[in-house]
Amino acid sequence: MTQPSNPYGARPGGGISLPSYYRPWPALNNRNMYLPGTEILPDGEMRISVLGSTPWPPTRSQSGTCILIELGIGEPQPRRFFFDMGNGSIKNALAMQIPPKFINDIFISHLHGDHYADLPYCYPFTAWAGRWEPLRVYGPSGATPELGTTHMVHHMREMLRWHEENFQHVTIADGFEIDVTEFDWKDENGVCYDQDGVVVRHWPRSHVKDGASAYRLDWEDAGLSVVWTGDGRPDEKTAEYAKGCDVFITEGQIDTPGLMSLKFGVPEDLTKYTIDSWHTMYYAAGWLMNEVQPRLGMIVHYEEAGAALEAESIAEVRSNYKGLFMFGGPDVQVVNLNKDYVWAREAALPDGPAIAPLDPRWVLPPGAPIPDSMELPRPSMPREEQQEQFLRDMEIDPHEYYPPDADREPVQTWPEEGFTISPRQMLEARGIDPDAED
Ligand SMILES: [Zn+2]
Ligand SMILES: [Zn+2]
Repeated sequence: MTQPSNPYGARPGGGISLPSYYRPWPALNNRNMYLPGTEILPDGEMRISVLGSTPWPPTRSQSGTCILIELGIGEPQPRRFFFDMGNGSIKNALAMQIPPKFINDIFISHLHGDHYADLPYCYPFTAWAGRWEPLRVYGPSGATPELGTTHMVHHMREMLRWHEENFQHVTIADGFEIDVTEFDWKDENGVCYDQDGVVVRHWPRSHVKDGASAYRLDWEDAGLSVVWTGDGRPDEKTAEYAKGCDVFITEGQIDTPGLMSLKFGVPEDLTKYTIDSWHTMYYAAGWLMNEVQPRLGMIVHYEEAGAALEAESIAEVRSNYKGLFMFGGPDVQVVNLNKDYVWAREAALPDGPAIAPLDPRWVLPPGAPIPDSMELPRPSMPREEQQEQFLRDMEIDPHEYYPPDADREPVQTWPEEGFTISPRQMLEARGIDPDAED
């Protein structure tokens, strides 16, 4: 597929292309901003949200790399896939009103910390916040077992043993279990996920150490596909396996070693060495995009170079690629696409908490009737079992600090008869009809 020319006017200087398929459609409530919680993703549409876009340094506008892919099934909760989970990305997921229970199916491209640093932070908290089922993590093996995803997850849980046991004081059920699908890092276009019409393939990338991967997700029913290259040098396999995808997302780095040396004081040759052994400079990102011919090319996992270098950054990409292009930052950029159109917006996010309310329907099997009452799974480790008595003895009697009209008996032990919630009542209290279809 070749890129059509710009329908909005002549190409100034030959460098700009906005194809005719870049336009909004009725399902997008607001053309200029994405307002989380206000749009149900229609059946057959994809939404890509860049929850984090940088390797280093993290900034107020760029968290560690994380790409959320949502597939519309015409219901309030779409199917979700997370590609990488860098530092700070979870706060953006919550600001996007993704219920913690649905932060699952995490594909890690490689084990650099900027690609999974929020995994140890988020898995105990999402379990605590209602994800009472195992977390599903996918990632490459390494040159030896100690360098693979399974090993990392095992030792991540060891690192968090204190945290896990502490949180067993509340309902966790199976939330601390992590099902790891570790695939052979060397497989070329190997399948690591194949379920309900969605196939995820992977291939190895040159990123100094064995065990770095790229991913391609094909949503067969909708005929839509997206590639996330992860980190690495521009390579033939990526050009081949990414070919014809709808959205091609690659990492990128500005190639101005002399200037970077002036800015950061790193010797010029050392800057070149860093770029040239690990990464894809913007020239090469554009080169790959031209090979792949996506409907949209994106660079995620890059350092915003600041206003003074924006023109240079774009020029490097444009030296090889004339098609529809955007950077994936600042966080959070949102791209909607269907077979006919592509549209990109920035999410309008609050600085404060915006977490989606806990919904009792999420813990029921799909399609199950909403009960009047249900008992919460009993925690496996009450505090009496994991704390010495003297620590509870030294707590101040709550009756001392409660004003008389606020005074109540503290709830400090799980009742013998269990904790019972009233799902129907909880929904009705929020103005939701428990018998409604959605
Ligand atoms: Zn990285
Ligand atoms: Zn890396």
